[in-house]
Amino acid sequence: MQSTISIPRLRAALNGRVITPDDATYDPARAVFYGGFGERRPAVIIRVADATDVSRVVSLARETGLELAVRSGGHSTAGHGVSDGGIVLDLQDMRALDLDVAGRTAWAETGLTAGDYTTAAGAHGLATGFGDTASVGIGGITLGGGVGVLVRKHGLTIDDLLAAEGVTADGQLLRTDAETHPDLFWAIRGGGGNFGVATRFQFRLHPLGTIVGGILMLPATPEVIASFVAEAQAAPEELSTIANVLPAPPMPFVPAEHRGQLVVIALLAYAGAVEDGERAVAPFRALTTPIADMVRPMPYPEIYPPEVGDDHPTAVAQTMFVDTVDRQVAETIVEYLQASDATRRAAQLRVLGGAMARVPVEATAFAHRGRRIMANVAAFYDRPEDRAVREAWVADFAGALRQGESGAYVGFLGDESPERVREAYPGATWDRLTAIKRRYDPANLFRLNQNIPPAIEDAQGP
Ligand SMILES: Cc1cc2nc3c(=O)[nH]c(=O)nc-3n(C[C@H](O)[C@H](O)[C@H](O)COP(=O)(O)OP(=O)(O)OC[C@H]3O[C@@H](n4cnc5c(N)ncnc54)[C@H](O)[C@@H]3O)c2cc1C
Repeated sequence: MQSTISIPRLRAALNGRVITPDDATYDPARAVFYGGFGERRPAVIIRVADATDVSRVVSLARETGLELAVRSGGHSTAGHGVSDGGIVLDLQDMRALDLDVAGRTAWAETGLTAGDYTTAAGAHGLATGFGDTASVGIGGITLGGGVGVLVRKHGLTIDDLLAAEGVTADGQLLRTDAETHPDLFWAIRGGGGNFGVATRFQFRLHPLGTIVGGILMLPATPEVIASFVAEAQAAPEELSTIANVLPAPPMPFVPAEHRGQLVVIALLAYAGAVEDGERAVAPFRALTTPIADMVRPMPYPEIYPPEVGDDHPTAVAQTMFVDTVDRQVAETIVEYLQASDATRRAAQLRVLGGAMARVPVEATAFAHRGRRIMANVAAFYDRPEDRAVREAWVADFAGALRQGESGAYVGFLGDESPERVREAYPGATWDRLTAIKRRYDPANLFRLNQNIPPAIEDAQGP
């Protein structure tokens, strides 16, 4: 095993860009969405141009033994998109999108963001559901599952994944779908980046022109929070919601007297006829007098407002699933948020169900189909010395919300522990994933991620 890289040889061998610590672009190139990882200095960052490059970089990592970070949109909460001393394989230049408008499918390279894809498909009145943020990469969100504003209507992002192409640990380019390497296809639908580097996905597209959607801001009393969740559960499946409870930020649409006060900032999206959508959002508007109401008929891609600035927030967060958010749980949420002095702190509630829950739990590696609500709590901090206090608050808050088995959504896991990764894959899902990992990545080359180690014994045979 060699342990050094010949940069001139690498440059000659690849079609993409090779960035080293001497390059002027090295610092911006190693930055990821979240701050706090600035001390990590990769030996080389490779912005791959095609699947052949991906295969060469995977082989380079295998041959050198250097740690490999695989990055699409760079939004990993755990900072897995940047290695210290290793290789970063960055897919952001691979963003070809091949839309089959008549057939309602799309082949999308994994360097595309959710926003890029949604805008291009939206120009034809078509959509595949991703999350709530345009800049998230389709690579990471799809491999984790993908819980967004179409979740109740069309399910998770992986429920629209028809096929994928990627490079496995041995450097081979494989195609996978329900018939071809079905074990791999099962594992990549929720199992994250553990099984290879995905280069292209084929998605199903749904006709979706105008939605009724946007932001509704309400004062966050326990009554409003509990009633919001109850309405979201009673709403037709066309309506998905993401409710954030937080101190109102100083944004232009927030009246001065509400800034800093606890509010619910909810993202609503009704994927159906406009009149029905207006009817479906009426109960939310009627909960109390809204502070701001920006819910309106809009072309679906406008669900992603432009992202401004080059913010690299530092945060601690925890993710879980809960069964109810009643008045008492809502009181806990308000109490915890009021007790912290972090400038940015939030609880997020996503009511699930609908199409997501109708897919059998064993059909994909995402194992939380039956859970009713996803709850995430987070605190942001600016000074490293504040991290410990924010961490303690997040842990206490998450502990107070926990209801039985909390589970975890892998997409929102931070740099936590092997036990927390297991919570993302309960029961038989874990055993199946470790067996498939052993088959496709026995040496755990893909380990800088929410890691699923290879099974020691292959329970399912060769
Ligand atoms: C602001 C914000 C909002 C979010 N909103 C949502 C949401 O609404 N719904 C939701 O479901 N999730 C959401 N997430 C979570 C998000 O889906 C995950 O963090 C996801 O992993 C990010 O994907 P990425 O490609 O941007 O990140 P990256 O950091 O590039 O990738 C994350 C990990 O995924 C793996 N990976 C990425 N691309 C590939 C690839 N092509 N091949 C193999 N492995 C790969 C790697 O292991 C990598 O470490 C959000 C995250 C943030 C920061």
